Amino acid sequence: MLRQYELVERVKAYAPDADEAMLNRAYVYTVQKHGSQKRASGDPYFSHPVEVAGLMTELKLDVDTIITALLHDTVEDTLATIEEVERLFGPDVARLVDGVTKLSKIEAMSEKERAAENLRKFLLAMSEDLRVLLVKLADRLHNMRTLHYIKSEEKRRRIAKETMEIYAPLAERVGMYEYMREMQLLAFEQLEPAAYATITGRLAQLRSQDSGQVDAIALAISQALSGAGMQVKVWGREKHPYSIWKKMAERHVNFDQITDIMAFRVLVGSDADCYRAIGLLHTTWQAIPGRFKDYISTPKVNGYKSLHTSLIYENSMRMEVQIRTWDMHETNEYGLAAHWSYKQGGVVPDGQVGWLRDLIEIVDASHDAEELLENTKMAIYQDRIFAFTPKGALFQLPKGATTVDFAYAVHSDLGSMAVGAKINGRHMPLRTTLANGDVVEVIKSRNASPQLSWLGFAVTGKARAEIRRAVRSKERGELAAIGRKLFEEIAGRLPSKVGKKATADAVKRLGFKSEEELMAAIGTAKLDDRQVMEALVPGSAKNLPAPDQWPKQERAISIKGLTAGMAFQLAQCCHPVPGDRIVGLRKPGVGVEVHSIACDALISGADHDWVDLSWGERSAGAIGRLRCVLYNRPGTLAEVTGIFAANMANIVQIQMISRDDLFGTYEVDLEARDLAHLTRIISSLRASDAVAQADRL
Ligand code: MN
Repeated sequence: MLRQYELVERVKAYAPDADEAMLNRAYVYTVQKHGSQKRASGDPYFSHPVEVAGLMTELKLDVDTIITALLHDTVEDTLATIEEVERLFGPDVARLVDGVTKLSKIEAMSEKERAAENLRKFLLAMSEDLRVLLVKLADRLHNMRTLHYIKSEEKRRRIAKETMEIYAPLAERVGMYEYMREMQLLAFEQLEPAAYATITGRLAQLRSQDSGQVDAIALAISQALSGAGMQVKVWGREKHPYSIWKKMAERHVNFDQITDIMAFRVLVGSDADCYRAIGLLHTTWQAIPGRFKDYISTPKVNGYKSLHTSLIYENSMRMEVQIRTWDMHETNEYGLAAHWSYKQGGVVPDGQVGWLRDLIEIVDASHDAEELLENTKMAIYQDRIFAFTPKGALFQLPKGATTVDFAYAVHSDLGSMAVGAKINGRHMPLRTTLANGDVVEVIKSRNASPQLSWLGFAVTGKARAEIRRAVRSKERGELAAIGRKLFEEIAGRLPSKVGKKATADAVKRLGFKSEEELMAAIGTAKLDDRQVMEALVPGSAKNLPAPDQWPKQERAISIKGLTAGMAFQLAQCCHPVPGDRIVGLRKPGVGVEVHSIACDALISGADHDWVDLSWGERSAGAIGRLRCVLYNRPGTLAEVTGIFAANMANIVQIQMISRDDLFGTYEVDLEARDLAHLTRIISSLRASDAVAQADRL
């Protein structure tokens, strides 16, 4: 642990005129307030805020931030009060400590309570002063570093999941890549221990075979550039296990197919040298088409600047190269934090508050925690393009954004009334993907309203959240009407007539706030007939079959977009699971056949009516079909079934398709919760030594 004088010395080293007495007072204050409290590691509790303050000195942050780090847990966990902090350390520190305390309170809530409303407060607390976020990120990083001391596996996993889903993306969003990488790595180790072990093991194996190749390549790059008179520093590094894992999952490849495990950084003196260097490298080695990215002329939204390219070395090895100046390098690794460094004095860079406001808007329009997460994730990642209104106003959108995203970016009302667009003067449909520099004039109509099918091409979190909201409110009205019809039908089965009083009692008994709510719940099949009858006349549903005797699949799956009472079945050709985009084919006598949007059956079924469908909120547990190619040696099949078991996936059927000296090919039908579950299983399979290939059919 950092001692008091060491901490003060560190601050004085970059901030010679810092208020030493105040720093000392803050150190003593946190030690006194936390007193004999202990960490899970057995260390005194105050070692934690001191380490967090230490992390903040590495970023050379201003004294207020260092003091906030020291005090960040006092108000939440000790008898200290904000008033006392203000009296002793001034209003600025008090405000910052208050912000961090608010975040901790939200963190302590259960996942359910934390949902939309609280994430909103969370973002608001940060948006008042982004230094609150910096302290929070350092706090989380230190907690992750000491996570292994926590005994409960469930708690470790919860913290790791939260880090992966909220804090690492926030660190990325503000450009603090060092923090992001370390958080992801520590969380990955916790969440996917088997994959972590496999990948780190394989990397160690590669390293032992490599014998100086990395240094040799770094030297070759360095010589190629210094030969042309440039001052350069080059070093190679292995990609970290989590980014390899992510690549495996995204590109659907296994470990052996990830060819660019090595990445090289080249630091040069000036912007011009960056471009000279890339020119030289591209003439020395072959560049892989499509991999060159210029983040200097178009920086990432978080301010990241660099040139990226991938080269083929000695006709065999692919390697990634990043070229940047020393200045860019510093900003790239520490992002937003660089703007509060002591010398810069707290100038918030352009656009660094705007994105928080965007996030808050998304939170406001989101329906539940899961949807929120999906929407915000999309807002946080992704490269950008730029498009203009006819009057020349500039809008930044993620790559792949369509006209509908643009319309929503300009204004929510414009989005909801959009019917088409003129792009660069030509009429184009709403689904058109925009290119950099497009001038977009949205055509609107008062009678138009957002369509569910727009979700098929809208990519921004904002547009998706707004479309869902609009569709949902329209749907709610329709569902309540359907629900009322069903309700009347159910009530008709009862021997006595159901009046206003009985209905009002049923609403109360079932815990709804209004009759409208009850009708909507019936319309969405959240309540079954039995529950409604029981609520109206207790004891009346005795002779109906119990829900657990109903066919299993129809209970677990609900589908939106069907007329109430319409029969459906999940197609056997493509085995859609919740999370897949789906479409229905209306077939006479069969009802609606639900296919995944990519299914070939949709082409041959083009003469049937298409029905726009989506999965109901609580859908879970469909059967997915995988094809796995295993190495033909003893024990591989057992290893694979072990992977299914570890992922809690039930095997429904397993069938050998073919087998030769090298490989055995199997088709496996699995009960998976949803698409995310199935994807995780496939990724785990691909990480295994036993598996040559794993795909969905
Ligand atoms: Mn803390």
